[in-house]
Amino acid sequence: MSVLAGCWDLRNMVGIHEIDCPRCGKKEGIEVFDRDNLTISDSVCSGCGYTVPEGVVLELYLKQFGKK
Ligand SMILES: [Zn+2]
Repeated sequence: MSVLAGCWDLRNMVGIHEIDCPRCGKKEGIEVFDRDNLTISDSVCSGCGYTVPEGVVLELYLKQFGKK
């Protein structure tokens, strides 16, 4: 076990977020996985099939919908 290995693990940690769908509004309808603030796969809403694409910053992506 080393300090360096610990840092590496932390940087590669995958986060899971359950978000409300920006299209149909289904509560926690989309399960998004991200790493280093970027989504690492397409995430599909279980209600309407809306897709959050891979490789976007989730927070910024969702803000686009708030502006409308
Ligand atoms: Zn939806």
